[in-house]
Amino acid sequence: MPNLVVAGAGMAGLVAAARARELGADVVVHEKGDRPGGSMALSSCVVWRYREWETFRSECPGGDPVLQRLVWERLDDALAWLESLGAPVVVRETGNPRTTGVRFDPRGLTEALTRRVGEVRLGDPLVELPADVPAILATGGFQGNRELVRRHVTTEELILRANPWSAGDGLRLALERGAGLSEGLDEFYGRNMAALPRPFVPGELVGLAQVYARHALVENARGERFDPQHWSDLDVVQWTARQPGARAWYLVRDDALGERVRERTVGEIIEAARQAGAPVDRRAGATRVEVKAAITTTLGGIRVDERGRAAEGLWAAGADAGGISTGGWSSALASALVLGRIAAEDALE
Ligand SMILES: Cc1cc2nc3c(=O)[nH]c(=O)nc-3n(C[C@H](O)[C@H](O)[C@H](O)COP(=O)(O)OP(=O)(O)OC[C@H]3O[C@@H](n4cnc5c(N)ncnc54)[C@H](O)[C@@H]3O)c2cc1C
Repeated sequence: MPNLVVAGAGMAGLVAAARARELGADVVVHEKGDRPGGSMALSSCVVWRYREWETFRSECPGGDPVLQRLVWERLDDALAWLESLGAPVVVRETGNPRTTGVRFDPRGLTEALTRRVGEVRLGDPLVELPADVPAILATGGFQGNRELVRRHVTTEELILRANPWSAGDGLRLALERGAGLSEGLDEFYGRNMAALPRPFVPGELVGLAQVYARHALVENARGERFDPQHWSDLDVVQWTARQPGARAWYLVRDDALGERVRERTVGEIIEAARQAGAPVDRRAGATRVEVKAAITTTLGGIRVDERGRAAEGLWAAGADAGGISTGGWSSALASALVLGRIAAEDALE
């Protein structure tokens, strides 16, 4: 009989299971997909926090301040722990002056954690909670469930920019056990992607994100304009998701093509979209790119306390645990890491 059952072998689940094993527990890890790593394995893998606590509060004003404080205070130690497990660091900065953190190699991070966890039961989803063993839900949110996204987020169809298996299983299991809902069920983090006429392959999810809205004029199919203000494009993605077809068009003047967005110029990002087959043309002396909103992770979900507890004998971490980024965006990998560790420690007490 195990001491702990973990649902999900993505960031939060692998972290929780690795920490539990470190504390001497016998852990069973269920994974719905055919590989470990979840969306973490597809991600840019920048695990970060705001440099200043006040910035975190003002960027995510609707989030639970107790959970936010935990993530903010404990992330640096948790990052050092990840490194001590052999997770390979790509760079020790985020490229954003507001934030601090570490970029890991996602494949190496998945392997380092999986080694510590031992067996992961692939293709074996948790469908029912165990009666007398503590369980941690880390199934990665509900963005993969069309019906739940339609009910809570938008009736328009979004591109799924995430693993295909995170479909609200954790939310369902937690509600059945009597857990509550967090704030911000209608909120999500995502990107506006080049509007390809075909599905994306996983390797394109980072490179074909069109992340330069503040250097463009943005309009919908009816020609109505939106004025992006947020540094992360968070506002324009939320807006696009609620426009007809979840589509928008970015008009970029020639003098903006040389603007840098992280390691690329706007012109290079557009060229990558054009080469992949996205609609890019010239209109009114500008380059015009069609984009479509994509959902990476839901931000609302199960309500948890400062120990990650959701209900009797039940914990949640990662995107399953909602209400941390409400009103904005903070690193989902960071909260998965911190809450995953806390949940494991508390569940074994
Ligand atoms: C392209 C891309 C770039 C990103 N870049 C960043 C970034 O740089 N920084 C950042 O902070 N975040 C980033 N993210 C978001 C981040 O990867 C996710 O939010 C994060 O992985 C969430 O962790 P998680 O453990 O909750 O979910 P996941 O890592 O997705 O793991 C959830 C796991 O649960 C499994 N599962 C689902 N249902 C069940 C079930 N019933 N039983 C068992 N297993 C189940 C899934 O198959 C999956 O493996 C990015 C995501 C993508 C896709």
